[in-house]
Amino acid sequence: MTRRAALHTLGGGALGACVKAKGRPPITGSIVGGSHARGHLVRDGVRPRAARVEEVEVAVLGAGVAGLSAAWAFERAGLRDFVILELEDVAGGTARSGSGPVTPYPWGAHYVPVPSPDNRPLVALLDEVGAIAGRDEKGDPVWAEEVLCREPQERLFFGGQWHEGLFPRDGASGEDLRQLEAFEADMRRWVDWRDARGRPAFAVPRAVGSDAADVRALDGQSMAAYMDERGFSSPRLRWFVEYGCRDDFGSTLVQTSAWAGIHYFAARGSAGAAGGAEFLTWPEGNGRLVSHLAGLAGKRLRTGALVTSVETGKDAANVVYLENGSRDLAVGLRARHVVFALPRFLVGPLVAGAAGAAHLHETVYGSWMVANLTLRDRPQGRGFAIAWDNVLYESASLGYVVATHQRGLDHGATVLTYYLPMLDDDPRAARQRLLRTTWEQWVEEVLADLERAHPGLRDLVENVDVYLWGHAMVRPRPGYLWSEALVRSRQPLGRVHFAHTDLSGMALFEEAQYWGIHAAEAILRERGQAVRSWLSA
Ligand SMILES: Cc1cc2nc3c(=O)[nH]c(=O)nc-3n(C[C@H](O)[C@H](O)[C@H](O)COP(=O)(O)OP(=O)(O)OC[C@H]3O[C@@H](n4cnc5c(N)ncnc54)[C@H](O)[C@@H]3O)c2cc1C
Repeated sequence: MTRRAALHTLGGGALGACVKAKGRPPITGSIVGGSHARGHLVRDGVRPRAARVEEVEVAVLGAGVAGLSAAWAFERAGLRDFVILELEDVAGGTARSGSGPVTPYPWGAHYVPVPSPDNRPLVALLDEVGAIAGRDEKGDPVWAEEVLCREPQERLFFGGQWHEGLFPRDGASGEDLRQLEAFEADMRRWVDWRDARGRPAFAVPRAVGSDAADVRALDGQSMAAYMDERGFSSPRLRWFVEYGCRDDFGSTLVQTSAWAGIHYFAARGSAGAAGGAEFLTWPEGNGRLVSHLAGLAGKRLRTGALVTSVETGKDAANVVYLENGSRDLAVGLRARHVVFALPRFLVGPLVAGAAGAAHLHETVYGSWMVANLTLRDRPQGRGFAIAWDNVLYESASLGYVVATHQRGLDHGATVLTYYLPMLDDDPRAARQRLLRTTWEQWVEEVLADLERAHPGLRDLVENVDVYLWGHAMVRPRPGYLWSEALVRSRQPLGRVHFAHTDLSGMALFEEAQYWGIHAAEAILRERGQAVRSWLSA
């Protein structure tokens, strides 16, 4: 839905109806994050001098999945002298979660697909959080019932009612179905593809996959161009594939590299609408995983700590941060090593001497708005029953996931997590619009979108909280995923090792975990420690 359309509905008097309406209590809520004012101190050039300096072996900057995974690897290797600095008051970054009287709920990442048994660190982490019920005869994990996404997993609203699954099959022409079949066959070809060293074309994490020329060449065009070349013109098929790009990357077919678009379908050993990897999920989404990791870090995790500068020297690096989000309490850390697990766009502003490097300007970020709607009862809608993931065909949003689904609570109060990726070609304009839009406007936009599928929804809504992700996700744009700029981004700078999902050119739990562990192991090696890598088979 366009902003103009949203404002039009507001102009029609819906704002009053939304916030206070006769006969029903007003909808409460607010914009709850992120801490943009705090983060913008860096943008605005605030560079305080530290009043006191502490010594530490490793400073981990950022408590997203990457930073927390680095800490996990240090802990496992017996290196306990580290501190994690996190700008927000809660750890987790784009995988953080929230909670309310009804249920915990995600604010960003909400699932991981069932990993390959070869993904040892992810399997180990999932074991730690109780996601593995046992082992089969091959020794592979048997996933606990309560974490495997319950049926029904997905439904799609189109033609005035809900349908099972995400491909709009009902009313599809013979040509739509023929093209779907051909697309799935094409993706299966990529699933089965192996290079001369036996590596798959696409893997998770991506480092395990092939770097053969045929595979790299896919990055030279957009997913739209890839589909054009093969005659995949069916609007339904194109919607379905674009849905995948919007869901995983927050980008359109045109904005997405064909390499990334195919990765979505072929990296996990399935191929398209029929196959589909199974998902592991929790009521609070991946918040369950980051809470566990944050718990392991304990008091070494310092939240409300905004990093304002990093200077790397011969024997140590100096990090300065503002304590408790205050402008005045600057603390210094003299660290032998640094894991910079912050998004790429912060390297230039924060790391002394880095700002001029051209490759730092190549990373493009999309914005997202996420809203959590607390409902006193389930919404009504025609057709197939409510599922975990509920998607609308004619919508700019991705629809919503249901936080109570995994707990088997199918009646009564619930929380719906609504996702809106902002697909503008100009990400800066999108960010400005994101931050300019008021809570009332967001609420109206969300309700106007969902009420097409759920008439009367607003009567059930008690509270809507909104989270604004300005630099939500790196865009896997054409030409970026195999670029020299991305390769250079991964190289350490003196005592600073980088770790963030950005280093893969796409935002996924497994990529963030990979880079966190990768940085930790590089530091362990630098310290002369023997490392049995988590990252090799
Ligand atoms: C809306 C949304 C939905 C998503 N859904 C999924 C999903 O379902 N599954 C999935 O696998 N992935 C999903 N992702 C992708 C998700 O980004 C990755 O899975 C992963 O969580 C990224 O972790 P990270 O540590 O690399 O980065 P981030 O999450 O960006 O972590 C970086 C951390 O650094 C902190 N920070 C920033 N600046 C400073 C500073 N100056 N000082 C101190 N700290 C600072 C941030 O607050 C943050 O905590 C989603 C992302 C979004 C935005």
